[in-house]
Amino acid sequence: MSDPLQKVMEERCRQDEKWGVQNHGDMVWATILGEGQVVRYYRHPKMDGQHSCEKCGNIMHLHGWIETLEGGHIVCPGDWIITGVEGERYPCKPGIFEQTYEPVSDRSAQSGNS
Ligand SMILES: [Zn+2]
Repeated sequence: MSDPLQKVMEERCRQDEKWGVQNHGDMVWATILGEGQVVRYYRHPKMDGQHSCEKCGNIMHLHGWIETLEGGHIVCPGDWIITGVEGERYPCKPGIFEQTYEPVSDRSAQSGNS
């Protein structure tokens, strides 16, 4: 059975396990449950969402937040999210990404093992 309320409660429990018990109001929960599993919305209790980012100049309201092996990290608009060999994820600036990686046209070209 796919009872939507059951799914919401399951996801709230999953979020509590992942981030610690959270006592959000319904509107905040609605926002959290609508966002991605990898990158969450950037939010900080002491920073106005209209504050400009030191790195990209966009307002913080347009940013994301990702958990990496080295702790939480801000994700600027346009950043790539890389998944490492052990499933770890981290953001990468577009300029660095373009210098480091090149596109492949055939999926089999991505891996050397066949
Ligand atoms: Zn930024």
